[in-house]
This record gives sequence, structure tokens and C-alpha cells, in this order.
Amino acid sequence: MLGTRCRIIQSLSVVRNVRFCSQLGREFAWTAPPGGETGISIYNFHTRSKLPLILSNEGNLKWYVCGPTVYDEPHIGHACCYVRFDVIRRILTNIFGINVVYMMNITNIDDKIIEKAKKVGQTTEQLSSHYESRFHQNMHRLNVLKPTVVHRVTDNIQSVIHFIQKLVESGHAYVTDQGSVFFRCDSYSSYGNLSRMKVLPSEKAVDYDQKMKPQDFVLWKPRKPGEPFWDSPWGEGRPGWHIGCSVLASKVFGENIDIHSGGSDLIFPHHENELAQSNCYHHTNQWVNYWIHSGLLSKEGDNEKMSKSLGNIITIPDLLKKYTSNQFRMFCLLTPYAMGESLGFCCSCCSHPLFCAALVVVHCHCGTL
Ligand SMILES: [Zn+2]
Repeated sequence: MLGTRCRIIQSLSVVRNVRFCSQLGREFAWTAPPGGETGISIYNFHTRSKLPLILSNEGNLKWYVCGPTVYDEPHIGHACCYVRFDVIRRILTNIFGINVVYMMNITNIDDKIIEKAKKVGQTTEQLSSHYESRFHQNMHRLNVLKPTVVHRVTDNIQSVIHFIQKLVESGHAYVTDQGSVFFRCDSYSSYGNLSRMKVLPSEKAVDYDQKMKPQDFVLWKPRKPGEPFWDSPWGEGRPGWHIGCSVLASKVFGENIDIHSGGSDLIFPHHENELAQSNCYHHTNQWVNYWIHSGLLSKEGDNEKMSKSLGNIITIPDLLKKYTSNQFRMFCLLTPYAMGESLGFCCSCCSHPLFCAALVVVHCHCGTL
């Protein structure tokens, strides 16, 4: 039975379509965490290999997932990612009997939120709270289990400030004359280790706001006119994007997480930066024991990922006008979770009972999109 269970997980853990250049990466020496063997193998993106899933607190799994930046309707690209993780979470819970504590953050302060709020004449609080509700409603419609814990960035600003302050004190971050705080990538020798991405120098990037090196990333942004702000030791301002996840995850889970997940578009720079600042804050090399990433969804015939900024999205309500949540879930299960997927609306040419004459996948070329 255990073998069958392992195969279920393993069949979900074949990674393709990751976007990195392996020769740029450095070796990462993974250390097996102290704790109980589960008998499960899991693909760890950091090592690019399957590893035994060992839980430091036997029977309990700490899972952090990057949540949405709430400024618009969630689309089915987001949905595919959360449905796939929901399936894995249910397998771990219902088949293996593991108590999964599934935590999600909500990014409710960000450039995109500020821009959209200005455009529609709302405060950032009004806008983000509306779209946060919409996100949860849509996940409910897709039968995605609620996270065990949800935290919003703006509810935790003091924790953000404390986290950044520790990084400044330890020399891993620096403050500019303009009141920005940047993470000093040179201070962390394993930077680039997760994504294996090469950061190319750019004069513009170096000049920007006294940033010392192109790869340095912002932890705290100084106040701009008309933007929300909070007091800090570096002046009025607001958190950068990456810091929120590290702070909130550390607040709930402490210095170590079993699984950290997100869409594969978050690998670089978001997860690379999260890992760098968290490893430095916690004085560890392995803040996360297992990284898993969901492949991205694109429209059939479109090589770009589904994204609001590219204008090629299908919203969840639009999807559910035509198809059921179970049909979409089945679609998400047709390929390994880490694999990118292409989706087209079609009906006549694919009559496989799994599709229920509904969703058509990569190999459909009926041209009806
Ligand atoms: Zn994140």
C-alpha cells in the first residue's frame, strides 16, 4: 500500500518546464532534517531531485504557499496552481494522515495595488480587501480547501520592520540616503543557488536609488506622495514585496519550513530573495526543506504565461460559466504539477470521458480557440 501511495506522490512530482540555466548554479548541499520518515518521496526543486520527505515534527507538516497580490480578479492561471497544491495537500492529509498546516500570505500593499486604487478612486485598503474576498470566494467555488492560516502584510508591519532591522544590524542590508533599505546580496554567498539564474549587470539598476549592486533588492521603500506609509527607523515608507513572505512565514513557523510552494514564475527573483533574506535572518542554510513549484498555464497557441499584465487571462467566473470545478480539477491533474500547461476552449474534437466534452489540452489542434 505504501508503495502505491509513494507512486501517487511520485507521479505528481516530475518536473519539467523549469526555467533555469543549470550550469550557472552552485552545488547545494541539502541536509536531511532531524525527524520522522514518512515513506514519501518528494521532488525538491532546490536540489533538482527526489528526496525522502522527513518531517521535523512527526506527523505534522508546515507548508507555506505564496498567496495572491490582491488588486484584480484571480484568473485560472492562479487557480491551476492552487488546485494542484490542494490535491497534494489532500493526498498528504487523507491518504498519509499527516496534519498539514497550510499557511498563505496576502500581499495587500504593492505598486500594482496602489496604481489600481488610484485609477478606480478607492483606498488601497478598500481595493485589496475587495479582491481578497473575491480570491477566497473563487477558491471556494473551485473546492480548494481554505488555508489553515492566512496573514496579511499590512497587519504585520512591526514584524516587517523588526525583520529588516535585524538584517541591517547584521550587515545583510543597508539603508540609503533616500530612506530605502536594500538586501546586500554580496553578503550571502549562496545567492542564486535556488533559481540558478544569472543576474546581469545593468548601469540603470546600479544607479537606481543608490543601490550598490544590480542584484540587491528592496526591503523597504520610502514614502511617495499619495501612497500609504508607515513609520520606520528609516523614515516613512512601506515594505517591498519579497519581505512580506519571509516575515509572515517566520512569524508562524519559526526558523524552518517543511514545504514552500508557489508558481514557477516566482522562482526568480521572489523565492530566491525570500530564501536569501530568511537564511540570513535565521542564521541557517536551509530555511526551507522542500521547494515545490507549479508549472504555469497559458492559452492554447500562446507561448506566454497567463497574466493580467499581458491581457491574456480567463477569469475563474468565466471558466465556471462553461465548466464545472471538477472538470477544471481534472484538467489540472492531466499533467505533473510542475509542468506548464496550455489550455484551450473547445468541445467537439476531444471526447475523452475525463474531459466531459469540455476542456482540451495541449495536443488539441482543432483551432477553435
Ligand atoms: Zn512569497
